[in-house]
Amino acid sequence: MLENAKGLLKRYYGYDSFRKGQEKVIESILSGKDTFGIMPTGAGKSICYQIPALLLSGITIVVSPLISLMKDQVDSLNSIGIKAAFINSTLDQNEVQERILMAVSGYTKLLYVAPERLESDSFCQLLRTMPVSMVAVDESHCVSQWGHDFRTSYRAIAPLIRSLSPRPIVAAFTATATEEVKGDVIRLLELKNPNIFATGFDRQNLFFSVIRGENKKDYLLKYIEDNKKDVGIVYAATRKEVDSIHELLSNKGYAVSKYHAGLSDAVRTKAQEDFLYDNVNIIVATNAFGMGIDKSNVRYVIHYNITKNMEAYYQEAGRAGRDGEPSECVLLFGPQDTILQKFLIEQSIFSEERRINEYRRLQDMVDYCHTTKCLRKYILDYFGDEYTEEGCDNCSNCKDETELTDITIEAQKIFSCIARMQQRFGTVMVAQVLKASKDKKVLELGFDKLSTYGIMKEYTLKEVKDLINVLIADNYLFLTESQFPVVRLKEKAVEVLKGREKVFQRIQKRKVKAEKDNSLFVLLKEVRKSISEREMIPPYIIFADSTLREMSEYYPIDEEAMLNIKGVGEAKLKKYGEDFLKTIVEYTADHGIKGMSGKIHIDNLENKSKNEIDISKNSLKKSDVPSHIITLNMYKEGKSLKQISEERDMKFTTVEDHIMRCALEGLEVDLNSLIPEGHEKLIVEAIEKVGAKRLKIIKEALPEEVSYTSIKAVICKVKGNN
Ligand code: ADP
Repeated sequence: MLENAKGLLKRYYGYDSFRKGQEKVIESILSGKDTFGIMPTGAGKSICYQIPALLLSGITIVVSPLISLMKDQVDSLNSIGIKAAFINSTLDQNEVQERILMAVSGYTKLLYVAPERLESDSFCQLLRTMPVSMVAVDESHCVSQWGHDFRTSYRAIAPLIRSLSPRPIVAAFTATATEEVKGDVIRLLELKNPNIFATGFDRQNLFFSVIRGENKKDYLLKYIEDNKKDVGIVYAATRKEVDSIHELLSNKGYAVSKYHAGLSDAVRTKAQEDFLYDNVNIIVATNAFGMGIDKSNVRYVIHYNITKNMEAYYQEAGRAGRDGEPSECVLLFGPQDTILQKFLIEQSIFSEERRINEYRRLQDMVDYCHTTKCLRKYILDYFGDEYTEEGCDNCSNCKDETELTDITIEAQKIFSCIARMQQRFGTVMVAQVLKASKDKKVLELGFDKLSTYGIMKEYTLKEVKDLINVLIADNYLFLTESQFPVVRLKEKAVEVLKGREKVFQRIQKRKVKAEKDNSLFVLLKEVRKSISEREMIPPYIIFADSTLREMSEYYPIDEEAMLNIKGVGEAKLKKYGEDFLKTIVEYTADHGIKGMSGKIHIDNLENKSKNEIDISKNSLKKSDVPSHIITLNMYKEGKSLKQISEERDMKFTTVEDHIMRCALEGLEVDLNSLIPEGHEKLIVEAIEKVGAKRLKIIKEALPEEVSYTSIKAVICKVKGNN
């Protein structure tokens, strides 16, 4: 059975193997057992029920909470040749009838329905006329009041299942793992002795970072500028904040949308579509945005404020990198955020028990912002996942990219000023006094008479305020929880004032990501965009970024080779293959690049039966492209050896050797481009003097500026001529 499942995975989706966890879930469903899959966002839950749906005899009903999600999923399935349809409130009566007829006739394999439909007796009656072999419940935590997206209509699922005969297999999926939610899903969906699979919450491709005490606006602007070609989401806690960040970014000329509950339906739909269709790169949003967005190429999710708890954080941050490509999740922490979240709890939760619970969860979130241990470990511990490693080497705490600066003097000035102002004022007023502001209130209160008045004159007001925030974030100061928060000293600050402790500020050394885009990747994205416009489907449904990236690294130039690219299945090859192949063939010809072709393998097998040939086609692997050829191709695209070594994560000398090997194998390599003017003559003379055996000796016989690369290139030239 599993072999069949794997065959379908390749044929329809173009993937070679199941991910961790998918295999077990699929096996369980196919053995006829109720199954409960708890997997993080991006783990690939959909395939877990879509593939069994193809292998089971009847139809699979998929209960899915969001209309946008449904349409997306069905579009995706149709684009890979799987018969799927949805029924929800966007359709008129005729369309519903038509889809029901197709489902009853056995044409449709997956029928997506909104949970509200199941509250209608007549609709359930119709479902009973269909040969339902499975009910798959997506986002099944919606059945639980403990979950963050409780939907009463999810309670109509169990009665429907009870009324179907024979009882179908029930498969439930969620990314929420708390014990209360798990228990509720099993009980309220009436799962029968389910096999439960929790695949582990780790998302290895995500880099987590917490930025504390830096000016958020400055950080955001710098980040977006450094990553302007990438797609990202910026989450903020309030509508007002979303509006102001949106304005800030639009004024700087970025293509950006915004999304929050205060906007009309039409404006929100447009914002969402612009983002999905790659018309804008950035969307700024409150937490109202995101459920049901499975855009796979989101490269970063920045939280401008903390969320109310870790579940919400991980769910939102997890919208980055669903395609498995490296992506970043940045959380900007400011002390005021905690106050806002506490206020929201007070405003919205009236039961004492739940309030205490929410405060506890908020504290876990704040602790995440302050922990010095591995952030990934913190998250996984929180979700009860075992993570035995001490560190992940892929979060801001493991990869310390900060510089320590001694700010003891500044801290003492600030603490002393707060003390002299009797710890009764907010950050702005303290900053104004330090800066010698002539503000009316400052003068009225006589603060210009204080000895600390103007002792930080050389800073801007913003810099002083930022420094105060750093000191709050690092627990030297705290803000009272009143309507107008007042800044006060903590014990730690007193030690600093007495000169017993020093204060250091951690400043992020912002790394600019290695420029990974190559010109073919950009061309392929253009091809994808034009297909998207022609067929009116979002670009990422045509092919994920990771698929285009593979094409631009392996240069498939015929259909067989194309089928080896991750994410290219038969239906998509037929539909879109030609457009992409044409571009790659032209590109490789223009750049003198050797593309990957499946033909050679087939030609060698002329005498074999068709079956054998098919097998041999599948055995053509991307790894068949030798590593030194990949390097050469990248070099021909205009990348420097250093860039190649960074992108391929290889030693510089290995990359050098690749190029030399290509030259020696007689491939076309422009060695002269590696030798600066005048150096060849010097090197030849040195070789004549000391021989060509040991590079080090040649290097020592030459002026400092002559590089090993040029020496190797000259040796290659000499060998090539002989
Ligand atoms: P989830 O619903 O768990 O958040 P999805 O089902 O949307 O995740 O899958 C996330 C992404 O991973 C999709 O782009 C999907 O095509 C891809 N994916 C799923 N399974 C595999 C696999 N076995 N190999 C490669 N990519 C996969």
